[in-house]
Amino acid sequence: MRKTLVAGLLLLGFCSLPCLAAPPPDTGEENGTGAPITVQAPTSLKVNVRGQKLYLRAYTTTLGDEFLVAADDPELYKIASLFGGKLSWDGDSLTLSCLHKGINRTLRVDENKVQGPSSVPGAQEAELALPAQILEDKAYIPLSAMEDFLDTRLTVRPNQVVFIEPLLRNVRFEGSAHSPKLILETTAPVTCKTFTLKNPDRFVIDIPGVVIDTPSLTVQHPDLGSIRLGQFELGPAITRVVVPKPRDAQIRAESSGNREVLSWQMQLSRPIEVATPAAAMEIQDVRMETTEKGHRLILTANEPIHFDWQRLGGPRPRWLMDVNHASFKPLKQEFEVNGKFPGTIRLSQNQPAPNPVFRVVVDLDAAVEVNTSAGQNERQLVIDILDKEIDPSLGLQKGHGSTQPVAAAGTSTVGGTIVIDPGHGGSDCGALNRGLNLSEASVTLDICRRLQAILKNQGWNVIMTRTTDVDVSYANSSAREELGARCKVANDAKADLFVSVHCNASVNASSNGTSIHYYKQSDYVLASQLQSSVINSTGRNNRGLQANRFYVLAHTQMPAVLVETAFLTNSTEGSLLNDPNYRQKIAEGLAQGLRQYAARQSWGTANK
Ligand SMILES: [Zn+2]
Repeated sequence: MRKTLVAGLLLLGFCSLPCLAAPPPDTGEENGTGAPITVQAPTSLKVNVRGQKLYLRAYTTTLGDEFLVAADDPELYKIASLFGGKLSWDGDSLTLSCLHKGINRTLRVDENKVQGPSSVPGAQEAELALPAQILEDKAYIPLSAMEDFLDTRLTVRPNQVVFIEPLLRNVRFEGSAHSPKLILETTAPVTCKTFTLKNPDRFVIDIPGVVIDTPSLTVQHPDLGSIRLGQFELGPAITRVVVPKPRDAQIRAESSGNREVLSWQMQLSRPIEVATPAAAMEIQDVRMETTEKGHRLILTANEPIHFDWQRLGGPRPRWLMDVNHASFKPLKQEFEVNGKFPGTIRLSQNQPAPNPVFRVVVDLDAAVEVNTSAGQNERQLVIDILDKEIDPSLGLQKGHGSTQPVAAAGTSTVGGTIVIDPGHGGSDCGALNRGLNLSEASVTLDICRRLQAILKNQGWNVIMTRTTDVDVSYANSSAREELGARCKVANDAKADLFVSVHCNASVNASSNGTSIHYYKQSDYVLASQLQSSVINSTGRNNRGLQANRFYVLAHTQMPAVLVETAFLTNSTEGSLLNDPNYRQKIAEGLAQGLRQYAARQSWGTANK
């Protein structure tokens, strides 16, 4: 669990006390970082924003890359205006508001969530590592709130140098296959430089000062092949987009100067010598059934189904699923649902050839739980729409799935090098369930040992940050040293993946469920894969994927996730975590997700 700073109170020293005899105060917050996050010293930040240098008064924190800045600092307001945003401070409600592109988001003192309007999917409830707070009679906010306020990314360099940069949100093609238009969308106006490279011929777009934040680092074009996105530096960011260029293709910039949307019109004069794209798969049969628990949609295709799903929050919650490169002959089909939560389920050819997309939309009166699984064979996908309402405030959630069976344990080597990090240990016992005499450090170690055994058996090279009840750095080290030591294990090993395992805790005894945290763009696919596999294995409440700037996620150089397995402070989940069978289920769920993830990567089965 995480200990946050509340109103400037320094939570120090309790980690050195005997854990079970003298538990730390429960702050109700959790980030799995181990030691308390504390405010340190006043400092001056050099903040680089869109070519300008600003100086902000700030406090450093033990989180290293988080700072507290005064909510009324004029320089903060200038940063917002450089991104077209407008900040305002309300001294009565102690709330900082930011109006940016028509969306108003707020952050209140004592809260660590940037709140957005519920009508905008994904805009609500971004979580910060520590709350806005009063320090010496003045309101301070975490500087990283500017990421959520302004759609930006913050990068901290040595000597209190900070960069706040816009995001590259979308790379796509429009137009016909032979005269496609390449479109790049960013969250603030950018400039770029283009040039061509030889052997093989490539068209290169360099965009300084923008950070990649797209769902994937490749975009497929049926004739050109893979368009690759690369992040070369952060703070200042250098982003490169590389497009394969046929020798006699004409590429003309459509937009110039300083823009949020950049586009290039391409003319491909003759058919291109790339591998013929595989014929689109076909959704051949659709069946709808009523089950005891709700409704079931069964899709049958002519090959295994790989899909992406999304849940939109807000007043009209919807669950969507897309199957790329799939055709649906009826073009449209709709089912009325007259159960506990009435509504419709719509199936459609959402996009036509050459990049056909088949879409399922579950549009009911309430946000309900939707589970996906393989049917009788790998060509069949079962979508269970349960009469079970889920927390509507969860906001936008996304994930991937596949009906393709993964290699059975011990029969293949799909793994790369993975670092498993059992949260806490040694002088820091983490969260506690006093009734059960159970500490987070002991639970996470047992889950990770079980996971280690399964993965070793599957041929992964497994490295544990600890295998006994010890600190990874040294006893009573600072949060930064302890968490830094865990990141160092993974970075030094040049691991392919990093998984940190924790238990959650809350002052609210009813809080329950599993959440998976990611931070870097490269963490997202892994996080969504693990989410579905762990929930499938344990059947616990899904609290969703959460983007959080946790130390171990921000300081590892490979895809990394932090798993909050369940709440130690909840009586049901405390008992489950105390049960070896349940800990085995978590380990199996994680292993299953890792196998599926590895199978999708170039270092997976295909190359071994
Ligand atoms: Zn923890």
